[in-house]
Amino acid sequence: MVARAARFILHAQAEAGSLCPVTMTHAALPLLQAHLPAAYADWRAGLLSDRYDAHHLPGGQKRGLLIGMGMTEKQGGTDVLTNTTRAEPLGVRAPGEPWRITGHKWFFSVPQSDAHLILAHTSRGLSCFFLPRLLPDGTRNALRIEQLKEKLGNRSNASAEVEFQDATGWLMGEEGEGVRLLLRMGGMTRFDCALGSHGLMRRALSVALHHAQQRQVMGKPLSEQPLMRLQLARQALQLEAQTALLLRLARAWSAPASETERLYARLFTPVAKFAICRAGMPFVAESMEVLGGIGYCEQSELPRLYREMPVNSIWEGSGNVMCLDILRVLQRYPACHALLQQEFEAVRGANRHVDRSWRQLRLQLRHPHEAQARDLAQELFWLASAAILLKVAEPPLADAWCALALDGRGARGPDETLAARLLLRAGAA
Ligand SMILES: Cc1cc2nc3c(=O)[nH]c(=O)nc-3n(C[C@H](O)[C@H](O)[C@H](O)COP(=O)(O)OP(=O)(O)OC[C@H]3O[C@@H](n4cnc5c(N)ncnc54)[C@H](O)[C@@H]3O)c2cc1C
Repeated sequence: MVARAARFILHAQAEAGSLCPVTMTHAALPLLQAHLPAAYADWRAGLLSDRYDAHHLPGGQKRGLLIGMGMTEKQGGTDVLTNTTRAEPLGVRAPGEPWRITGHKWFFSVPQSDAHLILAHTSRGLSCFFLPRLLPDGTRNALRIEQLKEKLGNRSNASAEVEFQDATGWLMGEEGEGVRLLLRMGGMTRFDCALGSHGLMRRALSVALHHAQQRQVMGKPLSEQPLMRLQLARQALQLEAQTALLLRLARAWSAPASETERLYARLFTPVAKFAICRAGMPFVAESMEVLGGIGYCEQSELPRLYREMPVNSIWEGSGNVMCLDILRVLQRYPACHALLQQEFEAVRGANRHVDRSWRQLRLQLRHPHEAQARDLAQELFWLASAAILLKVAEPPLADAWCALALDGRGARGPDETLAARLLLRAGAA
């Protein structure tokens, strides 16, 4: 997961339009393996391949395969219990058997996927179905694309509105288990949203840095003007903190056998999705400003990055949904409190901003209020990233982040020595 996270970030830096099918296919693999082992065996090579195979053939005959996800209906994306799509058994009523699916999905990204995992109601509750685009005999499944969405960004990745008219889907897991199964998939895709936003931010900063080094203003490159240097260094510092947390999180995802690491992944995935995806929009705007007027024009990449950025904080559960999820995790798993204690006590005394913030957070955690969940999520991100940097980064860098993130009086940012190092690490020549 750590190597994959690094590659996913690089993928986002190069081209974000193809991240959605990559993340959904990756997240679908464990579900398919656990609940439709025969289909998994038939499709495995194509699903693991990095080829895009556009042939109109049943899955088993293709060299590259994609899987999408269909939960959201018109009346609710967060509240999937309001789904109206229905499923009836075509024969035997059992997991792994084919069912007839009738209904719609209002957001159905990558409609060219070879299959989607969708939610539909049986008489026993909301259930998960594997809905291939082509049936095993090669005929089309009864899935009708009504139209493609006109989106703000993410336009190179199609998202459709679809109707199922007596389509065929194979039941995955037990009836009524659908939300639980798709939320498991959602954990992974939420992590990828944070990685994707981080990659887009890295791209934006590298474009800004490149420009700042070339552009001469009043006889000197922009990157050597003290005010601009500080601005770029603060951005680079923000990325250092995000990278540290994301790769720590990837390590937690890699160790499902460890209860502590599983809990870390469960708690800090929504924290990272909330805080990093939310930070992306102002970050790209600031990078745009570095380029001046041309940053606002399509010749620079920044307008496209700017339009792309909000999607990661909306899909796979929007900001508030992440914050409510964090509250749920804290309530459902009391061991979270011991985990936080362990994380933050391990760096006690290393930085006064961290010590003070941890004291305040501990009080807040005694009676967390729903209306304060956004502040809580943000604080958890700042503290967790600060704690990791205090453990692994050079002290001036860690201290600069602690001050920038946690000193309520508005810290100035890195000094010149650190700024030079940060900009070098961020790719300055
Ligand atoms: C480009 C794009 C592609 C997408 N692709 C897919 C796809 O392939 N498959 C799929 O299933 N879905 C897809 N979606 C849908 C996406 O997952 C949903 O839009 C998202 O989950 C939010 O659901 P909603 O639009 O119904 O908003 P709502 O559920 O109506 O939420 C609206 C707002 O209210 C907030 N909110 C919700 N509940 C609460 C609460 N209790 N307290 C406070 N605030 C709350 C939310 O955080 C959100 O900000 C896609 C969306 C986009 C933008």
